[in-house]
Amino acid sequence: MSAEIRSKCGLGYPPKPYTQNANECINRVVKSNLNCQKQTIPEFIKALKRTILRQETEIKLALTGQSDFKPKSEYSYLEVTEDRYFRMDLKQKEHVFKKFQNANLKSRHQEEDEGMFIDDTEHCGALTVTADGSGITSVPFPILKGLFEKAATLYHSRSDIVSFPGKPRASNIISKYFITSSTDAKKPHLVTILYTGQVTCDSNCPRWEIYKVCSHSIAAAEHCN
Ligand SMILES: [Zn+2]
Repeated sequence: MSAEIRSKCGLGYPPKPYTQNANECINRVVKSNLNCQKQTIPEFIKALKRTILRQETEIKLALTGQSDFKPKSEYSYLEVTEDRYFRMDLKQKEHVFKKFQNANLKSRHQEEDEGMFIDDTEHCGALTVTADGSGITSVPFPILKGLFEKAATLYHSRSDIVSFPGKPRASNIISKYFITSSTDAKKPHLVTILYTGQVTCDSNCPRWEIYKVCSHSIAAAEHCN
């Protein structure tokens, strides 16, 4: 559907992408899984559940490099290695999947349409957890919101987060990251993530020193799922 029509339909300015493809595609998938046979409603629900489960499994395999399918390059940041995935607990695995499901759609239509409209929307992408939904109450909300926005920029920039070289020396550490400092480009912050889920930034980070949360720790947590 053209950008002009989508805009007239109230899909925003610039308009969000919309096609019938997904509906038609899932219609075909469901029908073919039922061998195009008429079903009772309980049978249909059971069959639909199996289809959903199969698709979810396929997504999880693709995200961990175990499938013939692979995310497109613009979504490759959502992938995790097979080894790391199997070390995760159920909650962490679910987080990997959720992050994929909630990823901002970067569609071909959006790219084509961007030139047609004044770009007044945020395209840098968000994180899986928002400031609102984070449950962090120890930081004033306007500051927390700023930290999440900065963390999203760091996370999506691809060049602001670098893994610490080598394997972590301590067995309780999952990973360490160097993250660009906004005050001194020559001295990146060092963020450590423990198996307990605890994330710490270094003592040179003013926000960390005051609030025990900062944009670096949020960005690293997102990076590590
Ligand atoms: Zn920090």
